[in-house]
Amino acid sequence: MSQKILDALSKQFNQELRNAYLYLAIASYYDSIGLNGFSHFFKVQAREELTHAMKIYDYVHEIGGKLYFHEITSPQQDFSKPIETIELFYRAEVENSERIHKLVDLAREEGDKATESFLKWFIDEQVEEVSLARNLLDRIKMVGESTAALLVLDSKLAERK
Ligand code: MG
Repeated sequence: MSQKILDALSKQFNQELRNAYLYLAIASYYDSIGLNGFSHFFKVQAREELTHAMKIYDYVHEIGGKLYFHEITSPQQDFSKPIETIELFYRAEVENSERIHKLVDLAREEGDKATESFLKWFIDEQVEEVSLARNLLDRIKMVGESTAALLVLDSKLAERK
């Protein structure tokens, strides 16, 4: 495995952890305002990001590499209303898809077939993540200023497995 690929995978590992950190910051915001369904949704999402990071961790070591641990930067954590967090979630997942696509391009440039194949799972996963975020964004837009609708959505989000 080339150093370039190893560096790129280390950055992506960091990015997945950073997203987990961001989603926990969002969960914390919701717990602080009593919307526990939203909080639950983002705690589940944070756990997903941890599994993404661990997939990269395991792959790198499987092929005899070692990760570089970058600093995890502080996420946005002050929000004035729920829609801000969902927009941020959607943006983070769209950006993450772009990062994965660039990683695939790099693996191709480097002729690294194993990494290209490994990344296929992430490409598909990102389609699901972006779709999930877009759907939640659509629904929070429908909620508008209605507290009653917000509470209904909150109890729906509490059901996420
Ligand atoms: Mg992820």
